[in-house]
Amino acid sequence: MNGLKTLNGTRERRCLPRSGDALVDFVFRSLVDTLERGIEAVHIKKVLRDPDDRRRELHGILRERKIFLGRRKHRLRKTPIVSTLIHEAIHAAFPILSERGVLRLEQILWTMLSNPQKRYLRHRFIPRHEVKTEPSRD
Ligand SMILES: [Zn+2]
Repeated sequence: MNGLKTLNGTRERRCLPRSGDALVDFVFRSLVDTLERGIEAVHIKKVLRDPDDRRRELHGILRERKIFLGRRKHRLRKTPIVSTLIHEAIHAAFPILSERGVLRLEQILWTMLSNPQKRYLRHRFIPRHEVKTEPSRD
């Protein structure tokens, strides 16, 4: 469900906010496409625990095409939750990247995405309400 169908049947891409950098905008669009079509749901939890080690509290995790984000850890560490959404979307979009590579790309994007792009991701993909659902174990 992406864009409008024009008279000749081609799909016109929806207008997304820009950064001024073509490569950044390309990656941004890839992440938006991934969140729209490759991810089933984004869930917010008050406290997100590692399903495989309940003692560890996480910022985020991607499991079975669902992204879970933990509110408390972001508050405690004063890290922006959108940055973690970007991190998990990178995992889904570029599964070949190592954790190190994902962290690096997250950092680069965080400095290069425009504020309208970050706002778009937050308003479009981060739900307000917390859920009880837990990520499945490995
Ligand atoms: Zn990761």
